Amino acid sequence: MPAVVIKERCIGCEICVRRCPLDAMETVALPEPEMILGRKVKKTVVVKYPEECWHCGVCRLDCPTDAIRFDFFDEMLTGVSRALPEVADGVL
Ligand code: SF4
Ligand code: SF4
Repeated sequence: MPAVVIKERCIGCEICVRRCPLDAMETVALPEPEMILGRKVKKTVVVKYPEECWHCGVCRLDCPTDAIRFDFFDEMLTGVSRALPEVADGVL
C-alpha cells in the first residue's frame, strides 16, 4: 500500500515532498487556512502517484508530526510472521 498522508496532522512543511525519490508527493493549497497542531496551515500534501510509490518510507522518516502512515493488508502481515516467526514471537 502506498504512503497515506494524515491530513489532520500535516503542517505542510514539504519535507516529505523534497525527500521522495520518485517525486510521488505533491503540495496542495488548502481552500482556506486551518489550525493544525496549533499552527495556521495553508497547504497540505498528497501522494500524487500512489501506484508508483515504492513504500520506501523515506517520506515518513523526517516528518515532524508523524503525519504519514502505511497501511498493510492482514495477509501481508501474516506473510511476514510466517517468514520470520521470531517477529511473531516477539523475539525481535
Ligand atoms: S513531512 Fe509531514 S508534516 Fe511535513 S508536509 Fe510531509 S506529511 Fe506534512
Ligand atoms: S514511501 Fe517512498 S516512494 Fe512512496 S511517497 Fe514515500 S518517499 Fe515516495
